[in-house]
Amino acid sequence: MTARILDGRGLAESIENSLRDEAATFVDMFKRRPRLVVVLVGDLPASGSYVASKERAAGRVGIDAEVIRMPASAATAELVALVRAIAAGDRGTVDGLLVQLPLPEHVDAVAVLDAVPPHLDVDGFHPENAGLLSQGRPRFIPCTAAGVQRMILDAGISTAGRHAVIVGRSDIVGRPLALLLSAKGPGGDATVTLCHSRSDDLADHCRRADILVAAVGRPGLVTGDMVKPGAAVIDVGINRVERDGASRLVGDVDFDAAKERAGWISPVPGGVGPLTVAMLLANTLLAAELSVGKNPR
Ligand code: NDP
Repeated sequence: MTARILDGRGLAESIENSLRDEAATFVDMFKRRPRLVVVLVGDLPASGSYVASKERAAGRVGIDAEVIRMPASAATAELVALVRAIAAGDRGTVDGLLVQLPLPEHVDAVAVLDAVPPHLDVDGFHPENAGLLSQGRPRFIPCTAAGVQRMILDAGISTAGRHAVIVGRSDIVGRPLALLLSAKGPGGDATVTLCHSRSDDLADHCRRADILVAAVGRPGLVTGDMVKPGAAVIDVGINRVERDGASRLVGDVDFDAAKERAGWISPVPGGVGPLTVAMLLANTLLAAELSVGKNPR
């Protein structure tokens, strides 16, 4: 069997098309464009390139994006003060505000993220938004988790009653995804196993998955023999490796081996990554709509 490819790029493009229409309606009604502000601290090349792709995608759908760059030496208090000032409108209207991760080691990331008010928190990391998600009444869902669920729904992969195994329990990917897939309703109702670095018999858990999501950051962690025949395999990992003398991006799954057993598989690049960006735009538009008391979705 060769798996069907879950084309994140194509799906992100169609999501962007509908967001563009929604943004145009917003502009017609409220005479301004939705606006996203991104705080980028330091000069990690990967962070710079993620932020650049968010900025470009915002431009494509009609959302204004401003990137505020801070040096890697910025102190926690300085960043907290900056986030509060942006939220207070000192840099103009703001609908969505995010702080690109990771922050430098000396910075208290929790203090900085907690300074983002919940109504601007388009990354969905604030405890209020995490709490709403855990209670099954989400407002801003963390973008990567939302993207994975959207990919599953779009492909018509059934989740109800199925066993979903998620490898990785971070607050930004694995844990919110476990909440989404186990929630009641479309794209949910799955029985979820959440694995991590202390899980015994990881391969055993994976082999029992109808839906297997890898979100760890280790190339080759999921080998072909860990995939149940016919399973949907979704690879969130992004790892830069040197292969055949060239630098390449790969996921956590051994794609070539897994695709021979899986029913569906997402590639890296071109899988979950573009959907993460599309979901950020969707959250920003939702934030703008909520700010004017309008929520068409
Ligand atoms: P974190 O480092 O925050 O979390 C990694 C998780 O993997 C932890 O729960 C950790 O366990 C677990 N883990 C580590 N080693 C093992 C192992 N050997 N076996 C099982 N579990 C293990 O990473 P993120 O969640 O932020 O990101 C995960 C990956 O996804 C990265 O490659 C990242 O680049 C990528 N990513 C991709 C995005 C996209 O848009 N495609 C967006 C966000 C992230 P423990 O909790 O015990 O430490």
